[in-house]
Amino acid sequence: MSFRRVAIMGLGLMGGSIGLAVQRHLPGIATSGFDSDPAVRRRAAERGLAGTIHASAAEAVEGADLVILCVPVGAIEQAASAISGALAPGAVVSDVGSSKQTVCRALASVLQGACIIPAHPVAGTENSGPDAGFATLFHRRWCIVTPPAQADPAQVARLVSFWQALGAMVETMDPEHHDRVLAVTSHIPHLIAYTIVGTASDLEEVTRSEVIKFSAGGFRDFTRIAASDPVMWRDVFLHNREAVLEMLERFLTDLAVMREAIGTGDGETMFDLFSRTRSIRRSIVALGQDDPRPDFGREDHEQAALRTD
Ligand code: NAP
Repeated sequence: MSFRRVAIMGLGLMGGSIGLAVQRHLPGIATSGFDSDPAVRRRAAERGLAGTIHASAAEAVEGADLVILCVPVGAIEQAASAISGALAPGAVVSDVGSSKQTVCRALASVLQGACIIPAHPVAGTENSGPDAGFATLFHRRWCIVTPPAQADPAQVARLVSFWQALGAMVETMDPEHHDRVLAVTSHIPHLIAYTIVGTASDLEEVTRSEVIKFSAGGFRDFTRIAASDPVMWRDVFLHNREAVLEMLERFLTDLAVMREAIGTGDGETMFDLFSRTRSIRRSIVALGQDDPRPDFGREDHEQAALRTD
């Protein structure tokens, strides 16, 4: 591994997980960290999320040959400005933001002349903050690297090796393609989850206790996604607006087809779609991207909890 010192800006779920993963998998690399919130910095020091925690961004990046911005996409520009005069010559600057086109533009305009290679590890949970991170978050998860056209291939290869060493599988694509793919695989599903949970809680004829009591009917899985960090997701929709709107149009068209099928009693249309989607779920399980056990293995947890009670 050719990096010697990694600086992590933002010590929440992603930054904390990177810090822990580097210390576990790449113990030869020194880690330093900064977060704008002093309480987060204190907790990060207690948990040992990075080898050294600094009170300023400029101090944290001193001597680092890889800097990773792990802040909400709306804060990327500000985080980049805070390090712009302090970067070591030749340092690679990357990030983990969930949308890429606006992030790439912001980094290029603030850090002119720096070696910028944005990335997005497609790994996460609904938890955030300095207590949420864990060293194995990236194991067998994809990390999408979106290098600018003029990026030095040797530096891109260094970053790819870094993510592979943390356990990730890496794919390279251009930022525009990334934003369209993630709009449909991640951003629209989150929008649907936020909306359906909001709709259910607003329904007057269904009481709050009924929503909670009968949640295992599918609703429970939406509530997990809808518990995701509101700042992060607000920023994702503000920053990936075009791709999300395009995919949302497609989704609404398909939803209208299903509404029509239900209205006219067209069982064949429903059956065809549901069969196709079932095979997609099987492919995801076959690729090791989800738990094949019924109910995502929850029954096992529940049985184990009963046994220990
Ligand atoms: P998080 O747990 O909320 O952590 C972000 C941390 O960055 C917070 O402590 C925040 O402090 C701090 N911060 C904000 N602005 C800063 C700045 N200018 N300088 C330094 N620190 C700053 O969020 P996260 O889940 O790790 O998400 C971080 C990034 O990862 C986002 O861009 C997100 O799109 C991306 N991502 C997230 C997931 C996921 O599942 N969560 C998955 C893939 C990618 P305050 O809270 O005080 O603002």
